[in-house]
Amino acid sequence: MNTEKILIENIEITLKRKNIKNIYLRVLPPSGEVVISAPLFVSDDDIANFVKFRKDWIEKKQQLILNNKIQAPLKYKSGERHLLWGKEYTLQLVSRNELKKIAVDYENSIIYLPIEKRSKKETREKRLNELYRQELKNAIPPVLEKCTKIVGKRPSEVKVRNMKNWGNCRYQDKRITLNLKLAKKNPICLEYVMIHELCHLIEFNHGKKFKKLMDEFCPNWKKIKKILNE
Ligand SMILES: [Zn+2]
Repeated sequence: MNTEKILIENIEITLKRKNIKNIYLRVLPPSGEVVISAPLFVSDDDIANFVKFRKDWIEKKQQLILNNKIQAPLKYKSGERHLLWGKEYTLQLVSRNELKKIAVDYENSIIYLPIEKRSKKETREKRLNELYRQELKNAIPPVLEKCTKIVGKRPSEVKVRNMKNWGNCRYQDKRITLNLKLAKKNPICLEYVMIHELCHLIEFNHGKKFKKLMDEFCPNWKKIKKILNE
């Protein structure tokens, strides 16, 4: 395979020549890079025509990507943007010899992730989740105190887990479990989820009575719920 950069209709294109039968066009997040894979026998003119014909589509797609409507799947690599408490941080992978524990430069918005060479995406994701777990654990005690006073109920314990829902409350033993990814969200979301789960110590399901409790204890809950699920 050989790769070259070409310019057609003012669009910068990465052209890959391969032993394939058809021309393929992709517009990739996060930069909106245009990649064309073409068979070896197709002429440059044919490729130029191919692009001209699809110019509008390419530009539309690039706009969508740049407006953040289409996001690249996370790879957990250096330079990637990750959220912490609702703010964007740049991920920086460092060798484990340099740094033993994950570190955050809050001032410059950098997350330093120590990792071994040739790590898997899953390993890096897991390690970043450990940061979220730790951040959330540190944030919980004052929020729990505040919300307990508001709702008038106290859980037996609050656990942090990587889970599907934002939170969970077991009525039987009064245990609340929170999703570690709450550390990605604006801190107000943690408060909202905590109040929601504490309300389950009064009301089991999400009916009218529950919503009335939420209106009373967290008047902005509908707005915050939207922020949480953005
Ligand atoms: Zn609920």
